[in-house]
Amino acid sequence: MHDLIVIGGGPAGLTAAIYAARACLDVLVVEESFMSGGQLLNNNEVNNYPALPGISGMDLGIKMREHAEKLAIPIVKERVLEVNFENRNKLVMTDGGTYEARCVVLATGCEPKKLGVPGEAELLGHGVSYSAVCDGPYLRNAEAVVIGGGDASAVSALYLAGICKKVYVLYRARRMRAAAILRRRLEACDNVEMIGSLLTDAIAGENHVGAIWLHDVDTMEKRCIHADAVFVAIGTSPRTEYLNQQVYTNDEGYVVAGEDCRTTVPGVFAVGDIRTKPLRQIITACADGANAIESVKSYLASIAE
Ligand code: NDP
Repeated sequence: MHDLIVIGGGPAGLTAAIYAARACLDVLVVEESFMSGGQLLNNNEVNNYPALPGISGMDLGIKMREHAEKLAIPIVKERVLEVNFENRNKLVMTDGGTYEARCVVLATGCEPKKLGVPGEAELLGHGVSYSAVCDGPYLRNAEAVVIGGGDASAVSALYLAGICKKVYVLYRARRMRAAAILRRRLEACDNVEMIGSLLTDAIAGENHVGAIWLHDVDTMEKRCIHADAVFVAIGTSPRTEYLNQQVYTNDEGYVVAGEDCRTTVPGVFAVGDIRTKPLRQIITACADGANAIESVKSYLASIAE
């Protein structure tokens, strides 16, 4: 029986674990991936985390995990399949066993949204990718397409611009919604072309991506762009499938919780990107981790009375 199980080893989960260990709680982290860091690992260059300008997501993830390991926090590499929050003691079922705790912190973050067009699933790993950092290095002198107009798309395109011969950034709105500083950096790249008002119809290729088909949302005119790779960066959706509706979520599937990270189930807390919040960033994920442990401590004190 643990005081606390943290599900997910990204910035929010590891911060919660670090604060819990420093509060002398018996904490266990369950993380399915070999590397901790969650979506952070897809970020080539993090420039908005204070004191570490330009650090790669991978390095920041490694530093956070090392910090947790320095505090002797156990991290098991297992996938959570199911949870049972019906009783006061919470159960977490993984592909490696069943764990029990007084409290659970949900920190499973988000996963990339899919376009849902023909060719996307079929050519996944054969030119279709959701991570420029993971798959970009193989694209020297290639032509790549990045779909999406947000920060993630801009950051991916900037990274690819340093590797590829040509990078197209294709988005459906008239204007990219990415931060002005990122847009300016993209505009300054000779090998980047940004085109708006385009929606993807299909990704084409026999055994590997060869082209992408789109249409203009205003004129309905069809367009085909040659591409060796297509990076989809159209946002994310929360990873809550293992919760089986045991905590309240909003229409988009995010776990409803305030700044204190308390969910509708006593003893269950939500931190980071999985939580309803206005700004999903590494620093706000870490802030959640810290705030959640204040709530965990007061919950544990209340059930001990
Ligand atoms: P966003 O939700 O910000 O942007 C998603 C983009 O995808 C929008 O351009 C949207 O278009 C487009 N889109 C959504 N669905 C579709 C679809 N079906 N077909 C075509 N286009 C679609 O997501 P991000 O992943 O970019 O960012 C998520 C969060 O992470 C944000 O808070 C962002 O600030 C943060 N982030 C910050 C980074 C940084 O370095 N500061 C790096 C990466 C992420 P439309 O505009 O028309 O809705």
